[in-house]
Amino acid sequence: MTGDQPREIAVLGGGLAGLSLVLQLLDHGVKARITVVEPRHTYTDDRTWCFWDTEDHPFRHLIADRWPTWRVHDGTRAHRCTGTCAYARLSAGDVYAHALARIARAPNVHLWRGTRVQRLDGRRVQTDAGTLAADLVYDGRPPRLPETASGTRLLQQFVGRRIRSDRDVFDTSACELMDFRLPQRHGIAFLYVLPHSPREALVEATVFAATRLPAGRLDGLLDDALAQRLPSGVETLGSERGAIPMVPNLGERASGPGVIPIGTRAGAPRGSTGYAFLPIQRHSRALAARAARGTPGPVRMRGRITDWLDRVFLARLIARPDAAPDDFGRLFAGVPADRLVRFLMERGGPLDHLAVMTALPTGAFLRHAAAVSLPRALRPHPRQRAPVADADPDSPVPRS
Ligand SMILES: Cc1cc2nc3c(=O)[nH]c(=O)nc-3n(C[C@H](O)[C@H](O)[C@H](O)COP(=O)(O)OP(=O)(O)OC[C@H]3O[C@@H](n4cnc5c(N)ncnc54)[C@H](O)[C@@H]3O)c2cc1C
Repeated sequence: MTGDQPREIAVLGGGLAGLSLVLQLLDHGVKARITVVEPRHTYTDDRTWCFWDTEDHPFRHLIADRWPTWRVHDGTRAHRCTGTCAYARLSAGDVYAHALARIARAPNVHLWRGTRVQRLDGRRVQTDAGTLAADLVYDGRPPRLPETASGTRLLQQFVGRRIRSDRDVFDTSACELMDFRLPQRHGIAFLYVLPHSPREALVEATVFAATRLPAGRLDGLLDDALAQRLPSGVETLGSERGAIPMVPNLGERASGPGVIPIGTRAGAPRGSTGYAFLPIQRHSRALAARAARGTPGPVRMRGRITDWLDRVFLARLIARPDAAPDDFGRLFAGVPADRLVRFLMERGGPLDHLAVMTALPTGAFLRHAAAVSLPRALRPHPRQRAPVADADPDSPVPRS
């Protein structure tokens, strides 16, 4: 079905989701006037995006590092995995620069920097620089998250430092995804190390916890870990920090007709891992395709089976945080690397899902699975079809 393309589009928030969507709208030939409302005056290199390099997207050519091998230390043993797709790193600074340059060349896109949305009244966007009346609103403002998580959610909190050593200390052939040799008393804690060169790396301390940790606790964890691993001659080049919600099916419903949530607000961070970069790319592409056809509307962030598996994994992490190092160790040791990567990047098929489920302690997995209601796709005699399209349906993607 095709219809009329929208004429006036407002994108609230020029973060990853807002900028990715604008590039997709341009690539899909959407001619509407597009206004992006963004409080920042200037963009800085404020974060690092990592994911497995499984597919194409508008920022792929900017990937700065690729590691064909990754390591996980479960506290007792180290596991080393090599897959077909490398683990990839993108600098936010490069992503922003590329998107802003394209926006500057597009006569129909206007970026209102230094402007904050104050209120959304239907499709009327009230900002501190005036009111915008749009046919279509994509809302990428950060969602409000409770300070204390309820029994079904965690907060992934991390602080990272870009450091330089005066000696060769990093093995650039592999990155360290999770090293659980950190004190586990504040939550599920691990170190994450992305080496750019033998002397430079991003080193992050991450904790999955139900509550927000007091300021300084993560820094303390990171300080201690750095002091143990790199006793002297270390210079800090920069830092980043964040808190990513680990909530199954976080996505907000559209607040009204013609208002479509995007990014974190639409549930991009995966409930059991927090990975959001590739889901945002797929979601943006699917939303833009709908707008270009003249049938703009919401798109589910991911399939129902993935949502269900996330609930089960999250239930396990919440119920048995002490078992997390061993659970992750089993996954990385027991599931063939390519299968696990497809599962983690939401590109898995039934055999990949099965391999992941059977790598975990079966009794525990079944207990948590029984406590989480089945996705509609698995229930007998579904009565209703999903009202929205899927950005990433559960069917596996064709693989070469
Ligand atoms: C430090 C950090 C590292 C991350 N690393 C990874 C990673 O390695 N891999 C991965 O998959 N995911 C990662 N994530 C998770 C996720 O990919 C990012 O959070 C991503 O930026 C989410 O995109 P977004 O557009 O939803 O949010 P953002 O990029 O945060 O964009 C939200 C935008 O809304 C704007 N805004 C706020 N208030 C208003 C307002 N009132 N009016 C208008 N605009 C407003 C903000 O200025 C911002 O530009 C990371 C997150 C953080 C914080």
